[in-house]
Amino acid sequence: MNAVLVDGTGQAPFHGSLAVTGDRISAVGRLDGWTADRVDDAAGKALAPGFIDAHTHDDAALLEGLLEPKISQGVTTVVTGNCGVSLAPLALAPGDILPAPLDSVADRSWFRFDRFADWLAALCDTGTSTNVVPLVGHGTLRVKVMDDLSRPASDAEIAAMEAEVDNAMAAGAFGVSSGLFYPLAAAAPAAEVVHLARRAAAAGGLYTAHLRDEADEVIVALEEAIAIAAEAGLPLVVSHHKVSGQRNHGRSIETLARIAAAARQQPVFLDAYPYTAGSTTLNERSWAAASRTLITWCASRPDLAGRDLAEVARDMELSEVEAIRALQPAGAVYFMMDEGDVERILCCPDTMIGSDGIPADRHPHPRLWGSFARVLGHYARDCGLFSLEEAVHRMTGLTAARFGIEGRGVLAEGAYADLVLFDPDAVSDRATFADPCQPSAGIDWVMVNGEKVWSEGRPTGARPGRIAVRA
Ligand code: ZN
Repeated sequence: MNAVLVDGTGQAPFHGSLAVTGDRISAVGRLDGWTADRVDDAAGKALAPGFIDAHTHDDAALLEGLLEPKISQGVTTVVTGNCGVSLAPLALAPGDILPAPLDSVADRSWFRFDRFADWLAALCDTGTSTNVVPLVGHGTLRVKVMDDLSRPASDAEIAAMEAEVDNAMAAGAFGVSSGLFYPLAAAAPAAEVVHLARRAAAAGGLYTAHLRDEADEVIVALEEAIAIAAEAGLPLVVSHHKVSGQRNHGRSIETLARIAAAARQQPVFLDAYPYTAGSTTLNERSWAAASRTLITWCASRPDLAGRDLAEVARDMELSEVEAIRALQPAGAVYFMMDEGDVERILCCPDTMIGSDGIPADRHPHPRLWGSFARVLGHYARDCGLFSLEEAVHRMTGLTAARFGIEGRGVLAEGAYADLVLFDPDAVSDRATFADPCQPSAGIDWVMVNGEKVWSEGRPTGARPGRIAVRA
């Protein structure tokens, strides 16, 4: 094949070839004298392990289609159920309320899986284009077992949620996620999450945390997540790490120092996406931290997707806060981070790349289609933030090791043949805030478990994805 092999471990790229037999890599290196049924010449191209998206909300999108936003940029495995909001286990009855941000993860018709195992079975039945590393969400469990989300869970409700975590872990979940920022979980004290995290720990899982606050109180919120993981005795992944709001710009120096200090005592990792704008529900807290707000979806006014909130408020003759209230439920992109913080966080040795893309959005944040290509093209090649092999490591080997994913994330004999062939000189994100649903440039083909899922600029239609297994 004659490619530049970037093997996912972070070591320097080397020229060589790679052989695939069935769903596995059967040889890596110099394959002089080998014969094969089919040979792809890959001169000048880079061959890497398929990328692992450490942070997604693809739970329902996996069932809906071929996950084009991800496979088009080389992603072969997605970690689902982040921020406390997994699709399962939750079956809605007609008339049940679906609180935010669950309503931005999927249309309510998708909340039809009463047991975590039922959703996994549906994934296997439908077939998926990528592999799946599933997490179960604390927020989803609250909605399932509680009649009032504005208070802490009772002992009986905690016991019911613990049983659900046990079931999810037994079915194949990799851990539990929380999003204490969101109103559906904000009333939960740390102790409530510790109970669930302990159940995940007992089954060898980890805990991912969308912090209670990523703005002025980010350090307090970070301390809380670190304490939850320490008390429960399991690894912590700080989700989409950022510091929001102009007056907090530069504070990633503090947060990363705190994470590094904690990491000397316990396993603490983080994921991040390569943009200075975030995206979530349309809400006053996020708006207050932003210099500009773009609407990504709006149930009552779908025509507003992609428009600037300030402009929309002017047209409606309302203040921006009044407009936020009038447009519920809705989602938005917030320009609220500092470039220096984004780069500092991306450079932290424990940072994995996670898109945090929201596939259900009508006009999504470009991170959904562009994160991985942007790290490779913009940040590694054009800005020189880190080497190509370091960039690939943060989206493959590092992530597989941290999440404990068996047989993926590296080019090694015996590993699954999850591969991406790309042009290191041409790879770049084409998704923009104005035009966000654009496949990336420079991706030749993408293979999952030995079958191509993306080739010649389009999906092949294959669905060879599997539920990943814990190492
Ligand atoms: Zn989140």
